Amino acid sequence: MRVESERKLDFDDVLIRPKRTRLETRADVELKRTFKTPHAGFDVSGIPIIAANMDTVATLKMADALAEHSIFTAIHKHYSIEEIKSANISGDYNFMTFGLNEDLSHIKSTIDNLADKKVNKICLDVANGYTEIFVEFVSRVREQHPNCLIMAGNVVTPDMTEALIIAGADIVKIGIGPGSVCETRSVTGVGYPQLSAIIECADAAHGLSGLICADGGCRTSGDVAKAFGAGADFVMLGGMLAGHTECLTDEQLASLDKNSGKVEYYGMSSAEAMGKYSGGVAAHRASEGRVATIDYRGDVKHTVQAILGGLRSTCTYVGAPTLKQLSKRTTFIIKN
Ligand code: 5GP
Repeated sequence: MRVESERKLDFDDVLIRPKRTRLETRADVELKRTFKTPHAGFDVSGIPIIAANMDTVATLKMADALAEHSIFTAIHKHYSIEEIKSANISGDYNFMTFGLNEDLSHIKSTIDNLADKKVNKICLDVANGYTEIFVEFVSRVREQHPNCLIMAGNVVTPDMTEALIIAGADIVKIGIGPGSVCETRSVTGVGYPQLSAIIECADAAHGLSGLICADGGCRTSGDVAKAFGAGADFVMLGGMLAGHTECLTDEQLASLDKNSGKVEYYGMSSAEAMGKYSGGVAAHRASEGRVATIDYRGDVKHTVQAILGGLRSTCTYVGAPTLKQLSKRTTFIIKN
């Protein structure tokens, strides 16, 4: 047994110190970024926020709404190819999600089937990115799709960030345990404070010309700003985008009281999700997610405006004319 005694930080442990600025208005701040990719061979442009691949968040309607703002969606993996083909989605801003159990031929046929929509972004998502078979899976998907952008995770340490980039990931997803409906920390005792994970993994990824996506734990636009300030290239949001019109089916919307209605939002490793997609929690597993009942929040465009407005304001406070410069201009103050 070993104890690491260096202090590790979460979003709530820090604040961002204001700095002198020549910026006159938030409207002058540019949030769009363009990234070079280490493997895919093309640049990715947009506002680097990604809706989390959860079936209560990353719906096809959400993808359509967020693309209007140049924001990305990792479309959840439970749609049929026919549903995706008939939806109005743009390849520029959408990832298709796959898990470790996916057959390579299924991944190939999905990407081939969506060629006319120019979908060329793949999200390989597992709860525990530390297994050898996951690293091998990433290299096999890279071999099969040399020209796709691959995002893979989740991990929280520099060694595994590097391993996944070397195996073929362009973006490594960072976060174990911080999610709003995640119970991994209490069920298993495993996790890593999210702000420190971002700082340490961003450094490792950037050293290999790779990118990271900070996944989980953002509850406010201030947390999103802290994630970017810590060096995240992309930030993935679940709970902050849940409960909107775009998260609901037409039937759910029809029966919803728009003024005081409640919406159910659950983790993808919850008993709820496993019951829906895997016939229940398998005998060797425990649920690592929970169900939350939250207020209905209307159309997502209002929340997007609030998040982007908050981010522009952060940039103004620290004198960063672009989101790209935010991490260079960030000094975190530890609160106590
Ligand atoms: P949030 O933005 O809600 O704090 O975090 C979203 C992230 O939580 C997702 O992208 C995913 O990584 C993680 N997540 C979603 N569902 C579950 C779950 O059931 N269990 C765990 N451990 N993590 C989850």
